[in-house]
Amino acid sequence: ATMPPLLSAIANAGRHGVLVKSAVAMERLSRIDRVALDKTGTLTEGAPRVAEVRPAGGPFTEPEVLALAAAAELPSEHPLARAVVDAARRRGLTVPRATDFSSAPGRGVRAVVDGRVVEVGRPAVPPPAAQDGPDVPAAQEARAAAVRDLEAAGRTAVVVTVDGVPVAVLGVADRLREGAADAVAALTRLSGTAPVLLTGDNERAARRVADDVGITDVRAGLLPEDKVAAVREQEHAGLRTLVVGDGVNDAPALAAAHCGVAMGRAGSDLALEAADVVVVRDELAAVPAVVALSRRARRLVV
Ligand code: ADP
Ligand code: MG
Repeated sequence: ATMPPLLSAIANAGRHGVLVKSAVAMERLSRIDRVALDKTGTLTEGAPRVAEVRPAGGPFTEPEVLALAAAAELPSEHPLARAVVDAARRRGLTVPRATDFSSAPGRGVRAVVDGRVVEVGRPAVPPPAAQDGPDVPAAQEARAAAVRDLEAAGRTAVVVTVDGVPVAVLGVADRLREGAADAVAALTRLSGTAPVLLTGDNERAARRVADDVGITDVRAGLLPEDKVAAVREQEHAGLRTLVVGDGVNDAPALAAAHCGVAMGRAGSDLALEAADVVVVRDELAAVPAVVALSRRARRLVV
């Protein structure tokens, strides 16, 4: 028996390591006007490393700071969390057990470690001030300078806070995925419009990656709900939007999009669930490939 074209396209995509969840999803893939891409874990490998530790005050040594931060990050599946845990392990540090873990998608994590509240996450805007003690302005300025400095080098700055006092700024470096620029070029051709980068990371790190892959429209510092708003804005402008993402922070945007594609290998469960399409073979080239496949299938249907 011969399969209907959309189903055989789904089977075909599956052979190439892309899970298209339904015929409707295949159909939606074939009609997109714009592509919105996440940065960390989507355009980049999502296997970042802690490249630098800048002390920012408080009584802790660098190994103590890393051990506390790693303890708080241990339950998180975010790529930055893995970077922090790896950094502690590579230095042979013992990572204490944390309790009362909570995470705020797009912001960071919080846990209790050895009776202390440890927070690891994105620098607050403006930098956290209130609890710095007597040397507030100096400590605050030093921390802001460390953040600026790291971001100017294209790094993601992550602030570690213990009992409300910022103790270190970590500079985290990530690498572009292989073939990222080619995939962006192919998606530009297929959608007929310039893609947009949606990221929770800082503007400077975002621009660096965008320049490397040929994206000029960059929206940085976005929380998960801001990514949704950005997608809605496209859809209201009449542009059916394909969102490509990997994280918990991308799940709402993946669900809100005309079509959502999750990068599967390291993708969070929530992202995989929210997406219409899951790239199991962990290559960005698979995204334009499956869009092209969906168009061929549609031509067979109509
Ligand atoms: P992206 O949109 O590029 O995938 P996210 O929205 O996941 O980035 O994260 C945005 C920012 O929030 C990060 O750059 C980081 O500063 C902070 N952040 C989020 N989760 C964590 C975490 N587990 N540990 C440290 N920082 C985090
Ligand atoms: Mg991501």
